[in-house]
Amino acid sequence: MKKICLKDKEFELFIPEKEVLAAIERIAVEIKRDMDGKNPLFVGVLNGAFMFIADLMRRLDGSYELTFARYSSYRGTSSTGTVKEILPLHPTDVEGRTVILLEDIVDSGFTMSYVMSKLREQGAAEVKLATMLFKPDALKCDLKPDYVGIEIPNEFIVGYGLDYDEMGRAYRDIYKIVE
Ligand code: 5GP
Ligand code: MG
Repeated sequence: MKKICLKDKEFELFIPEKEVLAAIERIAVEIKRDMDGKNPLFVGVLNGAFMFIADLMRRLDGSYELTFARYSSYRGTSSTGTVKEILPLHPTDVEGRTVILLEDIVDSGFTMSYVMSKLREQGAAEVKLATMLFKPDALKCDLKPDYVGIEIPNEFIVGYGLDYDEMGRAYRDIYKIVE
């Protein structure tokens, strides 16, 4: 089993890149089908989703509008439950639009619940959520992602954009922590 070390923690191979890309291919087909005739605004949630955003958008391969936002709610290996807007969206950008958030992973769901209700307050016509990874057992909010790449158990993972204290984002495969 392939292993990596990041700072004080050890991680083992969990989901190979090939599986991740197959899931993204499927999401791209679903989004294309649902957004036919609509003009959605994609919002890539930095930093963790950067690889997902790039791999998904290149598969959508169309005249889509994409912007970025950044929120922070996570420190170390557990969620803090408070959301900070580090790179907020401009309210006029979302007014009347179908917004599709592109997120790396939904854990407790606090971050996306907060962001989705804020976008609705700001006048978005429709707010959808596409997440590369989803931990259904960790969910603490009334939230149902519209597009899910892969469901995973409640374990801490890195790679494919996801970090452990800013380390590990550049790995192509996904690794899970060895406790
Ligand atoms: P939530 O608000 O759903 O609890 O957490 C969402 C954010 O926490 C994600 O966007 C991600 O940045 C971070 N996060 C949640 N689970 C993991 C994980 O297993 N690994 C890493 N690296 N980040 C995670
Ligand atoms: Mg994230």
